[in-house]
Amino acid sequence: NSQMYDQTRELQQLERDLRLACDGLRVADSQGQSTVSSEFRLQYQPIVSLTTDQPTSFEALVRWQHPQRGLVSPADFIPLAEDTGLIVPLGHWVLLTACRQIRCLLDQYPELPPFSVSVNLASQQLQDPRFLEDLDHILTLTQIEGRYLKLELTESMLMDHADATIDMLKQIRDRNIQLSLDDFGTGYSSLSYLHRFPLDTLKIDRSFVSRMQTSPEDFEIIRTIITLAHTLGMNVVAEGIESIEQKNQLAALSCDQGQGYLFSKPLTADAMALQFAAPA
Ligand code: C2E
Ligand code: MG
Ligand code: MG
Ligand code: MG
Repeated sequence: NSQMYDQTRELQQLERDLRLACDGLRVADSQGQSTVSSEFRLQYQPIVSLTTDQPTSFEALVRWQHPQRGLVSPADFIPLAEDTGLIVPLGHWVLLTACRQIRCLLDQYPELPPFSVSVNLASQQLQDPRFLEDLDHILTLTQIEGRYLKLELTESMLMDHADATIDMLKQIRDRNIQLSLDDFGTGYSSLSYLHRFPLDTLKIDRSFVSRMQTSPEDFEIIRTIITLAHTLGMNVVAEGIESIEQKNQLAALSCDQGQGYLFSKPLTADAMALQFAAPA
């Protein structure tokens, strides 16, 4: 029918635009200007310690400033980028840009406390045979030590090709890069599998946090995830903390860190640098 036809046309147009925007990235990148001339931007959301309230990490979140549509949310274009394979060049740009922005921060503020920047990875990036080579190239180019970087994976990425993935993750860890498991609890991962993967952090999905005060089951799931993570030697981040009550309850459950609008919305790189390095 005509409504489905319109939706298909709309999606095809968005795909063409995304392809153009990603083509633009390669040109800009080879000229060393990836941060100025692309339609993509990174914002950074603080992840704070629930004991000290200080940021320990910043999650890099991509935005697409579309010339006609305005700001397109990653929920609307990341799935499309994954379906078309464009996530590989886009993900490369995200990593490079995050590392360049870390380099700027370190150059501008040499006395910062330890921190890391968390970058979301898509499955195709991890399966790309050139991934490690590209990663090393980016670290060398920007002169960033691995400890400044943390990569966020999802449960399905672990389960897809378990043995090859474990090997890849170990090689990432060899570079002192940390690993987080994102949106934990929403995928299919078998709990008995989890210890096989060299992970530093579990991120409890926002959906559990949003229900923790109205649903005793969700509260118990959170408690169980925290215990499990600590038993396996991992630390825990709770996503989507919006109220002080949620924060206090999570802290009482020994959750290590939190992320959410209570602490901060995602910030531009400049705002993040100011807030972290030169707080009022
Ligand atoms: P995510 O990795 O789980 O990132 C957290 C999302 O939750 C972000 O949405 C963030 O803005 C939002 N959020 C944070 N705190 C709160 C809160 O207190 N309340 C609510 N309601 N939301 C909160 P965003 O930026 O729209 O990103 C959505 C998803 O897009 C991300 O979920 C991630 O899966 C994906 N994504 C973003 N950037 C990238 C990227 O560079 N590469 C890849 N592969 N995926 C990305
Ligand atoms: Mg994430
Ligand atoms: Mg998440
Ligand atoms: Mg989530």
